[in-house]
Amino acid sequence: MNISLPFVQAIPILKHIQKNGFEAYFVGGSVRDFIMNREINDVDITTSATPDEIESLFTHTIPVGKEHGTINVVWENENYEITTFRTESEYINHRRPSEVHFVRDLYLDVKRRDFTINAIAMDTEFNLYDYFNGQTDINNKVIRTVGKPVDRFSEDALRIIRGLRFKSQLGFDIDSYTFRAMEEHIEDIQYLSIERIILELKKLLLGQYINKAIIDLHHLNFWEFVPYFNLIQMNAYQMIHPITLEQFIAITTYKSQVNQDIKCLKLSNASTNYITQFKNALIQLNCITNEKSLYQFVYDFGISIALDIEHQRENLMCNHISLPSQSNYNASLIQHIWQSLPIQNRKMLQINGKELMEVLNKNSGPWLKKVLRDIECAVVQSEVTNRKKDLIEWVKLNVKIS
Ligand code: ATP
Ligand code: MG
Repeated sequence: MNISLPFVQAIPILKHIQKNGFEAYFVGGSVRDFIMNREINDVDITTSATPDEIESLFTHTIPVGKEHGTINVVWENENYEITTFRTESEYINHRRPSEVHFVRDLYLDVKRRDFTINAIAMDTEFNLYDYFNGQTDINNKVIRTVGKPVDRFSEDALRIIRGLRFKSQLGFDIDSYTFRAMEEHIEDIQYLSIERIILELKKLLLGQYINKAIIDLHHLNFWEFVPYFNLIQMNAYQMIHPITLEQFIAITTYKSQVNQDIKCLKLSNASTNYITQFKNALIQLNCITNEKSLYQFVYDFGISIALDIEHQRENLMCNHISLPSQSNYNASLIQHIWQSLPIQNRKMLQINGKELMEVLNKNSGPWLKKVLRDIECAVVQSEVTNRKKDLIEWVKLNVKIS
């Protein structure tokens, strides 16, 4: 894909703003990634027009963060985030300011941004406005705050985590003054909302250079100031390959055996369920000793978790979690097993609880769940075919209920 395409598509929006007498630029991560020749996710637009003025210029707008200056404009079925040039009032308790001031000067807007590499603006002719030598830092692969690092981190400690996130994603080094200020202010991350931390941590762990970034996290005692992780000996963990936050948490709970509730991380139900599944799969890995048990494992956890485990092989191994050798556990084998399983879930069993009660002439009770599980395992391991007649016969022969 032509990497300038997202900009080209958005140019009519900027031109429309300019035609009405305002300034508009691309800014932030998209400009940084464009200069680096990296794929661009979404373009951020910054403008001298106020949110009210933006709303009056476009027919389809959504006031996603109007009080902070952000309006979404829907243009040819795409969503564009347009933020008014702004400065921020004083930070209290290391939290984002509740008040922002809209300004008409691009320089003041880029001056409040976190890192020089994120503070470059670009106009519709692809001219760059680089007040803080962001291009030099991109060329030298350096992460450096805009302005004095101690000031910028004491204003908003999330920038410390963001800096580490960019290191993990881009493989850049952190400028030594910036890093020293990170050391000085790391404690302040305890005042951040867990939602903001989690958002950045997710991106950080998925960075291609996580192996480098995690060393800094350990060095800075980052974990000590984040709920849940502060109860675990985190320095023991290594990550040499990108990993999802959910997989990372599953590994830490499995290894540390800390029965700590992860509710404090305020994750979604889907994330929490995944963590439980992945952790249970890690526990069960030890039981894979032959083909039959591998069939059972793939059935019990499903293809997706089984493949995710394989995908995390290197991270598991470097954290001393053993799994079967690659010849006995690999993606194509897992796919083959999944395809050849006689059933892929319990609903596919050709017998149900009601029929079992009739066959065995017994009332419902705890026995039922156990027998259904026994039948399920027997089918998965091809000890019996999944036909009602055969299942009934198998039950009569094999199931003893007192
Ligand atoms: P990504 O590629 O992940 O979107 P990004 O650099 O665009 O990376 P965003 O979180 O989307 O990061 O933020 C957009 C821009 O807003 C940043 O590039 C930076 O200029 C500015 N920014 C975001 N968060 C902060 C912050 N906490 N302090 C100062 N500036 C910030
Ligand atoms: Mg962005």
